[in-house]
Parts: sequence; structure tokens; C-alpha cells
Amino acid sequence: MLKIENYIGGELVTPASGEYLDNFEPGTGDVYSLIPDSDDRDVNLAADAARAAFPAWSSTSPEARFEILMRLVGLIERDLEDLARAESIDNGKPISLARAVDIPRAVANFRFYATAAMHLSNESYDTVRPDGGRAINYTLRHPIGVAGCISPWNLPLYLFTWKIAPAIAAGCTVVAKPSEVTPMTAFMLSKLCIEAELPPGVLNIVHGTGPKVGSAIVAHKDVAAISFTGGTKTGEEIARIAAPMLKKLSLELGGKNPNIIFADCNYEEMLATTVRSSFSNQGEICLCGSRIFVERPLYERFKSDFVARVSALKVGDPLDSATDVGAIVSKQHFDKIMSYIELAKQEGGTILCGGHSIDLSAEMPIEAETRPVGSVPLGAPTPHSALRNPHSNGWYIQPTVIEGLSHDCRTNLEEIFGPVVTIMPFDTEDEVIGYANSVRYGLSATLWTENLSRAHRMAAALESGIVWINCWLLRDLRTPFGGVKDSGVGREGGFEALRFFTEEKNVCIKI
Ligand code: NAD
Repeated sequence: MLKIENYIGGELVTPASGEYLDNFEPGTGDVYSLIPDSDDRDVNLAADAARAAFPAWSSTSPEARFEILMRLVGLIERDLEDLARAESIDNGKPISLARAVDIPRAVANFRFYATAAMHLSNESYDTVRPDGGRAINYTLRHPIGVAGCISPWNLPLYLFTWKIAPAIAAGCTVVAKPSEVTPMTAFMLSKLCIEAELPPGVLNIVHGTGPKVGSAIVAHKDVAAISFTGGTKTGEEIARIAAPMLKKLSLELGGKNPNIIFADCNYEEMLATTVRSSFSNQGEICLCGSRIFVERPLYERFKSDFVARVSALKVGDPLDSATDVGAIVSKQHFDKIMSYIELAKQEGGTILCGGHSIDLSAEMPIEAETRPVGSVPLGAPTPHSALRNPHSNGWYIQPTVIEGLSHDCRTNLEEIFGPVVTIMPFDTEDEVIGYANSVRYGLSATLWTENLSRAHRMAAALESGIVWINCWLLRDLRTPFGGVKDSGVGREGGFEALRFFTEEKNVCIKI
């Protein structure tokens, strides 16, 4: 069985405990590799390595960092297919999505920040004194030190690199933890860092659980800043530890995003995009629109077309290129989503399609299973015995559309984070703004209308960090990314992220 290793001080190392956790393949429900069950001893080693590497790395020129990060870009591009395959196996996402979105985005993250660091400029102010004399104020920006980066399982390499790339590009050294649910591509990245000759200690990756590894990173005295993406409850726990230590914090948390559709929208584009914004990555994207509000004159037409399109989505083997919807990431998350479907029924909802799990073995013939697991270069032996159906224990849920619920029932207030959406009619702008803003979250909102004034009015009124108008997930890495209310604190993206990983100093010179 393949054993994932920590990456500390430039080397792949076993955890101090010598213990490993099972890593499951969602498509089959089988254990297919082992994850280090690391603890504070491993985090201490990683923090020591990061602290030791900091003086040299923080004094390298942005050009030198650019060269190294671009070597990494080349290696990720070279291994794109292996990484996409590994991501699909580890997370359950369709391989087509991993190929088109996840791994290319990891490339884009490193490329963006490798170049951005060369363009980060500091402010200077020409100050006129009360006596008519002058002064010059200028800002120096120093890398903050050792940064802690903690990421979730839904977009594993994509979000892991979204944090690591700006931290390293800014001159920080890093102790990072990927989700224990999807550790594989972070492990593969650590091998690529060795190949790219990233100086030892600049990036350290410690695998393991949140309570043992994540909280040890947050509580470590030498970790100056924490960049976290994950659930709101975890974010609160991190803030509880980090705030009294006066650490800098960036928290990207949960969401319950509204998708608001007016009758004057470009119908075909809205329909196709709404299928995507509801069910991409099994609905396990923080930006997915899970509450769909439809202006009443369009409601019945939308309902029937949407349900027809959703029912036609192919739920299948994540490694099959024709699959639209893959497996749910874990048994625990599968159970949570199924419990919300039950709750929706109890709350009076009508299931228009889906609403149940799927046993793919009924649809697939039993055959000899020979496909390799992990990535091909890892050379992992296949865990599947021959002559058994590889998918029979996978965690699959039919995409689910529910109507008949009020905007303020639990199904519509709590984050489900799966292939489940609700649809609701509305009559007026004010009414739908009230519905949209009635949740504790405020990450993103989608709006479909051809009325320009209404689009601007609504964009200003929606309580969310991001508003997509007549589009969804159209990303520009320069824009501020993050949520309001319980969806987070701070913004990632663009120069904002580079600034987060630096400490500012103002210098005032009297002339
Ligand atoms: P999670 O909060 O359970 O875990 C996220 C990470 O935090 C994991 O690496 C986990 O091991 C670690 N962790 C857990 N407990 C910890 C602790 N006490 N201290 C430190 N680290 C700890 O989230 P998840 O289930 O992996 O991811 C799903 C959640 O992430 C959803 O709520 C989703 O909305 C959110 N998310 C948000 C964004 C965003 O940009 N706002 C993006 C993706 C996912």
C-alpha cells in the first residue's frame, strides 16, 4: 500500500508517531493509500525548517523566486495528466474537471504569483508639513516570516497552491497542511518541489488531521500568519487560538450562495450555466449556487427544463471522461448530504429529481479491475482484487432538485455542500434580496438579468463578497476573493494575497 510522506526540510520523511491513517478512494469506497498521522512533533520540525530557511529565502530577489516557481510550473504542466488522475481518484471528481480546472489552476496560481511578486510596489507620500516644510513617507514591505497554510478537500491542489504560491512568492517560508481527506496531489507536489530544487525548508508539508496537525500549526509560536480555507466552524476554532496570539489571519469559509434568475435573462445561457453552477464537482465548490430563486413568470418553464437537464447528467466513475458527476468525497460527507435530503423532505420539500444514492454496480458489469491507483509514476499497486466490481462501494448521489421549501427553513439556511439545490419563486426585487441575504453566509451570489440598472442595484444590495452577473466562476486572479458575514475574514487573490504575507513598515524622512 502506497505510503504518503511528509515533506520537511526538503526531504520526504515519515511521521514521528510512525502511524498512518487510511486514505479512501471515493469512487470505490476502498482504502488505497496511507496518510501520515502526524502531530505537533512533525509540526515543530517543519516550523524549525521553515524558520531556518526564512533569512535566505526572504532575501532572494523576486526574479530568483520567479525562476524557481516557474520550474515548478513546468513540472506541474509536464505531469498534468498524472496529477489530474490522482486528483480524480483521491477526491471523486470527474477526471474531465481535474484536467480542465483543478490542475491548470494550480499551474495558474504559481505562474500568477511568480510574476506578481515582481510587480508589487510600495507607496510613497510627499508630505507637506504645517510649517511649510516637507517630508517623505514611504512604505517598506517585508515578508512576514513563517506562514501556516491550511486547505480543504474540495479543490485539493487548486486551493493548496492558491495559498502556498503567494506566500512563497512574497518571500515567506511555509508550513502547510492539505486536507487529510485528499492528500495525494500535495504529496506529488512535494516531489516536484524537490525536482524543481526549491531550497529546503521553504515549503514544508505536514499531513494529518485538523485537531492534531492543523491546530498545532495555528498554535505554533513561530508561525506568524495563518491562511485558512475550510468550514466556518473550523475557522472559528482557528480564530479562537490565533487571535490571542495576535497572528494575522485570512479565513475563507463556508457559503450558501443564492442564484437569482429574472424572467428577462438570456435563458439558454442561464440554464446551461445554472446546471454547472449547481452540480460542478458534485456541488462541492464553495461558489456553487445552492438556493435558486426564479422570477415567477419564468418559474414553471425553468423548473421543467432544469429538471430535464439535471436528470440527464451522467453520474459515474470519476475516471470515465464522459462522467458529469462523480463520487462524494467521503462516507462521512455522503451521510451528511443524505441527512439533509431527509431533512428537506421532513420540512415539506418535494423532490423533483434525484433524492437518492446510486449503486453504480447495478449499471456496470463486474470486470477485472487493473487500473493503477494514485498516479502512474507513484507505481502504487492496485488495491482492487480482480473480478470484482470496483464501484459497488463508492459514494454516489443522484443530483437533486427540491421545491416547496421556504427560504428560512434549515435546508435553505445551512450549508449542504453537495449535489442538492432548492428552487423557489419570487415576485419582486426587494423580496428576493431579503431571501438572498437571510443566511449567515455571504460568499458569492449569481444574478441573471438583462436589465443593467437592476444588475447594478442588486449587486450593491447583495450581502456577499463576490457577485457573478450573467456568468459563474469566471475568474480573474487579480480580483479580491472572499466572503462577508460568516463566510470569512480578509481577501485572497491579486496583490491582496501578497500583501497579506508581508508586514508593512512606514518610514518618515523630514526634509
Ligand atoms: P474543514 O474546516 O473540515 O477542514 C479544512 C482544513 O482544516 C482541513 O485541512 C482540516 O484538516 C483542517 N482542520 C480541521 N480542524 C482544524 C483545527 N481545529 N485547526 C486547524 N485546522 C483544522 O473543511 P472541509 O470539510 O475540508 O471543507 C469544506 C468547507 O470548506 C466547506 O464549508 C466549504 O464551503 C469551505 N470552502 C470554502 C472556500 C472559500 O474560498 N471560502 C473554498 C473551498 C471550501
